[in-house]
Amino acid sequence: MSRIFTPIDYEANGKQHGYLTIPHSRNTSAWGAVRLPITVIKNGNGPTILMTGGSHGDEYEGPIALSKLANTLDAPAVQGRIIIMPALNLPAVRAGTRLSPIDGLNMNRVFPGSRSGTVTAMIADYLSTVLIPMADVVLDIHSGGKTLNFLPCSVMHQLEDAVLMEKTLAALEAFGAPAGLVLQELDSEGMLDTEVESRGKLFLSTELGGGGTVTAETMTIADRGVRNILAHFGLLDEKVVSRASLGQNPTQLLHTPDGTSYVVAEENGIYEAVADLGQEVREGDVVGRIHSIEYPGRAAIEYRARRSGIIVCRHVPGLVESGDCVTVVAEPYRP
Ligand code: CA
Repeated sequence: MSRIFTPIDYEANGKQHGYLTIPHSRNTSAWGAVRLPITVIKNGNGPTILMTGGSHGDEYEGPIALSKLANTLDAPAVQGRIIIMPALNLPAVRAGTRLSPIDGLNMNRVFPGSRSGTVTAMIADYLSTVLIPMADVVLDIHSGGKTLNFLPCSVMHQLEDAVLMEKTLAALEAFGAPAGLVLQELDSEGMLDTEVESRGKLFLSTELGGGGTVTAETMTIADRGVRNILAHFGLLDEKVVSRASLGQNPTQLLHTPDGTSYVVAEENGIYEAVADLGQEVREGDVVGRIHSIEYPGRAAIEYRARRSGIIVCRHVPGLVESGDCVTVVAEPYRP
């Protein structure tokens, strides 16, 4: 049994706002707790969807879109159950940091978690043992955070299960972002994604922008995407608002088939982006340069695309360190 307590009744009809109470004894609060906001909206018969934001505390489209949804959506409009957690790693969201300031952990690398672990591990354990078993679908909203910026996209993994792959691709397109990315992760161990997918359940994520803030464009995509996913799975009695109906190009399907999509810095310095988000590049094209800060007369080091495709991600702060991912090049995907 999880050590996390909540007065929420997941089987009750109607809308409930509440908290998950996570024991957190510390110097400033002997019997203290972290109180994680949660809203559950249930009505009629239909699937259960778990919607999370704020897994990383410096990504804001998720927390904003899900707070708006929790505040405005009422139970009579719903067929099924919607579990909304706008700030999954609340301590990180409070601090505006990717990792939790309590235990230094990355929420999306600690799954399945541990009931007797630190705060971040206990949250993961609650999802693994209580919420994911209830859910048919999980939508986890990410952005690039303070150090990356993305071409706004919905994201999924290449899946072994052909039926689940097809269903997830349909959801990827229903979200309605400019791009839909079938991602090869650099490191997928401990991710919420893996925890949900390994149970044969449908998992969809996003990368909606970044740089430690939102834009009007990325919020429009997030707000519409969240409702589109609810409509797509029949939780709302409304039509998916297609990109075509808005006069927009269809979602461009892209993928990163292997590690050659990633361009990684091999030295420290100032990063000069040569290709911007959404730009098409050929294999061998210069996508960026790293300029030495220390040494006069040293030429900038050029970084080249290792495959042809579209720039979907770039490093944001001007300074880069050896090992930083500076650019991701994705290529068109045909299912
Ligand atoms: Ca993220």
